[in-house]
Amino acid sequence: QSVKMIVGNWKMNGVSASLDEARALQAALQVGPAAVRVALCPPATLIAPMASAFGQATSNAAVVEIGGQDCHPATKGAFTGSISADMLRDAGARLVILGHSERRAGFGETDTDVAAKVEAALTAGLEPIICIGETLEQRKAGAAIAVVQAQIAGSLPQALVGRAFAVAYEPVWAIGTGLTPTLEQIAEVHAAIREAMVGTLGETAATTPILYGGSVNPGNARKILGVEDVGGALVGGASLKAADFISIVRAV
Ligand code: 13P
Repeated sequence: QSVKMIVGNWKMNGVSASLDEARALQAALQVGPAAVRVALCPPATLIAPMASAFGQATSNAAVVEIGGQDCHPATKGAFTGSISADMLRDAGARLVILGHSERRAGFGETDTDVAAKVEAALTAGLEPIICIGETLEQRKAGAAIAVVQAQIAGSLPQALVGRAFAVAYEPVWAIGTGLTPTLEQIAEVHAAIREAMVGTLGETAATTPILYGGSVNPGNARKILGVEDVGGALVGGASLKAADFISIVRAV
């Protein structure tokens, strides 16, 4: 069993005052369990200050790693308002969330767009966390497995072969709703994702972590993290409070 990853996605939340929350987290995790990889993905404006704050950890080289929430597929140019993977890396990020359902639904990102961003992230030396997941309509229609398998085939470029990355299964209907799939449903989808990943990328993807995301909280984390082939969690709302996020990390 490999090291589990707990990743906080702050989404569009966090201002400089949130650095206090981040510092509280850092202090608590300093004595935390070693068998967990912890990362926080704040808004782009906080990447540099958080990377430097966490970089100052003395006992443990990187107690908390920092990631971005999106990047542009190009390295630079006339793309007003966008940030490149190189820029995230330059600011201190080591990971980047790509293809989150809020980007797919709200910004029209397709599997092809996500795959191009993944390539850009890899070129910049960032570890992508690629998000997939079905909508409620798709689940009701019995298409959840087919949807995630198609997203895997379309969003994972061959450039991932042999590279460090993660996939996050985030059912759209479970995000921010307090609803979660049953443990059996999570196990079923993760098994299907594993099969599709190995089909697309080969045996190199046999041990790639598959995170679960969608209404993970201190109360359900232990059970979800215990499900077969759940390699960690991608946490939204509950990552905004240090105490909640710490209890999720401790649930590993
Ligand atoms: P919640 O944990 O708030 O449901 O959000 C999940 C998510 O979208 C993480 O990327």
